[in-house]
Amino acid sequence: SSRQDNRDKETNVQVLLRCRPLNDDEIRSNVPRVISCNEHKREVTVIQNLANKQVDRAFTFDKVFGPKAQQRSIYDQAIAPVVNEVLDGFNCTVFAYGQTGTGKTYTMEGGMRKKGGDLPAEAGVIPRAVRQIFDMLEAQNADYSLKVTFSELYNEEITDLLAPEDNSRSTEDKQKKPISLMEDGKGCVIVRGLEEEAVYSVNEIYTLLERGAAKRRTADTLLNKRSSRSHSIFSITVHIKEAALGDEELIKCGKLNLVDLAGSENISRSGAREGRAREAGEINKSLLTLGRVINALVEHSAHIPYRDSKLTRLLRDSLGGKTKTCIIATISPSAHCLDETLSTLDYACRAK
Ligand code: ADP
Ligand code: MG
Repeated sequence: SSRQDNRDKETNVQVLLRCRPLNDDEIRSNVPRVISCNEHKREVTVIQNLANKQVDRAFTFDKVFGPKAQQRSIYDQAIAPVVNEVLDGFNCTVFAYGQTGTGKTYTMEGGMRKKGGDLPAEAGVIPRAVRQIFDMLEAQNADYSLKVTFSELYNEEITDLLAPEDNSRSTEDKQKKPISLMEDGKGCVIVRGLEEEAVYSVNEIYTLLERGAAKRRTADTLLNKRSSRSHSIFSITVHIKEAALGDEELIKCGKLNLVDLAGSENISRSGAREGRAREAGEINKSLLTLGRVINALVEHSAHIPYRDSKLTRLLRDSLGGKTKTCIIATISPSAHCLDETLSTLDYACRAK
């Protein structure tokens, strides 16, 4: 266990596993369950019948959340500590990784707005993180500002999900607003051309999420299932005024990236089989490179291949070094998803 402890301390990569409940369709059609979760032992077991013999395979993670786990308990146990770091001036990233339909967006965004002040029980990581940030800053009576960006990465191209609609241009043009990625020489990533929104309340976040989601839906109808093949990145930057030294101000800055990754089926064989090999290859690039970067970080490799994909270049200042990374791998309990579930478990295990 000390090896595990050391590694966790040095790399700050945490891998959680969440298994969604069977949905109504699956229950109605009596789909067998092949996943069993033991939250206490932090273990997921895959139960397979091979040649009439039951074969179990167990996978261990930093935390395991079974089908009954509530949004709130996942947030409190796993995400709140990461958000604390952001307010201490660190850059942190939470990823949702898994097959389409397993609950990545539910986990990150969750149930939408409820009238009035409180967050709904189904609220996911994004609204809860924003709420925690506001609550902590208010409690500290801090002088702060908070800005968010919401972007989408598709085929290695970045699109702004918050950019105002320009009706004078064709839809095709709208998809192609050029956004460029640079580094400032101090290791900070600069994204040119992304709309930065200052936010002043939790409720505003829902407006932004809805705006971004509407944009993703439009893109979806233009290109079938685009949203399952794109990564969405919600970034919150916090500036806290610490002290004034004469004319100079000391500002503490932290960033939180909340990333809803493309469906992991895009890096399995199915993509290639269906003749989407080339596009799958481009999607592959970011998902596969992310896996390699995290692997390299966990294993303390001398070379971290950040430059090999847009996603890892975009998140470079928030992965490795003094940062915290949390991967939430999502799976379905159904027998129909077994192949994809096994590849998700393998990918997530390699990241530990
Ligand atoms: P993904 O983003 O991975 O494609 P979604 O988040 O869209 O998957 O989830 C697919 C469906 O399953 C949605 O209707 C969602 O509300 C539901 N769902 C996912 N995870 C859960 C969960 N843990 N509890 C209840 N419903 C869930
Ligand atoms: Mg989704």
